Amino acid sequence: MMILKTIVTNSILTCFIFLDKAVPSLCKMSWSIQSIVDTCSDRTNRVCDPGGILSEQDEARVRERLNYLEDTCTVNCESNDGGDVVPNVQAAIVIVSMIEPIDGTVESYATTLHNRWGVGNVSCGKSTGILLFVSTLDRSMYISTSDGVQPILTNSRLESIMDEMKRFLKEEEYAEGLLEYISSVNDYFKKGPPSFAENYIGYVMIGGVLLFVYVSAYIEKLRRREYAMVHSQLSKLDREKALVLMGRYKCTSCPICLEDFKLDPNAVSKNDEGTVTGNGIEKYIGSDGKPLQVLKCGHAFRATCWNDWISKGSAGFDVRKCPICKQDISASPPPPPTPTRHSSEIQSLVRRNANTTSEAPDQNDNAVQRRNQYDAERRFRLTRLMARYPRYISRTQVERWSSSSYDNDLARDEDFMRTNPARSDTTGGSRSAGGGSTSFGGGSSSGGCGSSW
Ligand SMILES: [Zn+2]
Ligand SMILES: [Zn+2]
Repeated sequence: MMILKTIVTNSILTCFIFLDKAVPSLCKMSWSIQSIVDTCSDRTNRVCDPGGILSEQDEARVRERLNYLEDTCTVNCESNDGGDVVPNVQAAIVIVSMIEPIDGTVESYATTLHNRWGVGNVSCGKSTGILLFVSTLDRSMYISTSDGVQPILTNSRLESIMDEMKRFLKEEEYAEGLLEYISSVNDYFKKGPPSFAENYIGYVMIGGVLLFVYVSAYIEKLRRREYAMVHSQLSKLDREKALVLMGRYKCTSCPICLEDFKLDPNAVSKNDEGTVTGNGIEKYIGSDGKPLQVLKCGHAFRATCWNDWISKGSAGFDVRKCPICKQDISASPPPPPTPTRHSSEIQSLVRRNANTTSEAPDQNDNAVQRRNQYDAERRFRLTRLMARYPRYISRTQVERWSSSSYDNDLARDEDFMRTNPARSDTTGGSRSAGGGSTSFGGGSSSGGCGSSW
């Protein structure tokens, strides 16, 4: 037991003795503000590295670049007596391995040291100081700026500078990180204050992102609504197909725009006077409030749609013919509101059903004819639906749905259901916004020799 204790104690002592010579910064782990002030008493040396994190050569390189920065970077401002003065920048860098949490954060370390040392030329009433504080094992840094340099070193520029430094700091290339910092500050002083665009690029980007999110949500909502409308139209066609088979189909919407007809408020009084035949279609008017355009073949359209149709035409259709049944309409006078073919057939079918039960072959013929006539209307309606909603209905689908072999519900067709926006994956990809940018990226400590001073 004694032997083991001796070995452990000797090992620790060896570690301390070795590290104190080779890596002194790791042996003094944390620095209070006072201990930093005490150690870095030479104010002419702008690089304060009390724990010796930087090699002598690296510290000399950093100090040389920092002196160059102070010599070349100036701030334009008015002096107290009204004349223009251009005081030089004063810059300090503090790099320690760790701070004492009881003494504050890297921010309070930076600002306290900045103020206690008085970093910055104040010849024009404003201070021109910059102090970079880096705590390597805390993996944090803070750049403290005076009011005189803030017009040039704006917060967004400071964040950008620190972002550039991080790739070196993550690799523990501290000297390179500090040189990158000095170089960036130098560049910004050469550029001068940021332009309007640079100042507000953040707002513009946020506005752009918000607009994109809003527009995306709006489009998504619109597409869901469109899909619901197409679904409703297809369901209606499915129901109509069933009604046709039962001989109870009645056209109640415009085949061109697919909008429902409205009940004519005058139809009741007309019926009372016995002036109409009562077959159904004359009870309706278009959604435009005008009487329906009923062709001599019996197909009815909203008057406005029909007038547009024959004046503009549509690819693949002859405007002199009914677009549904292809019967010639050019020679016909403006058709009176006659019963639709379907309705009159239904009526005759009903009459026959009431009078006799021995006309089954005729009934079958009528049913087949009815079905064929309706199939033409259904195909036309599907074509119109495709023209209005090409995102959800393709020509291939219309062809497939119109074939005599297709017997499924349109609204449940897999090809159509696949276009449902609610079914598509909406992996919005959340990107990190970057955070406060003073941390190196959340990495863990790279270890070292611990001590408790
Ligand atoms: Zn219409
Ligand atoms: Zn027709």
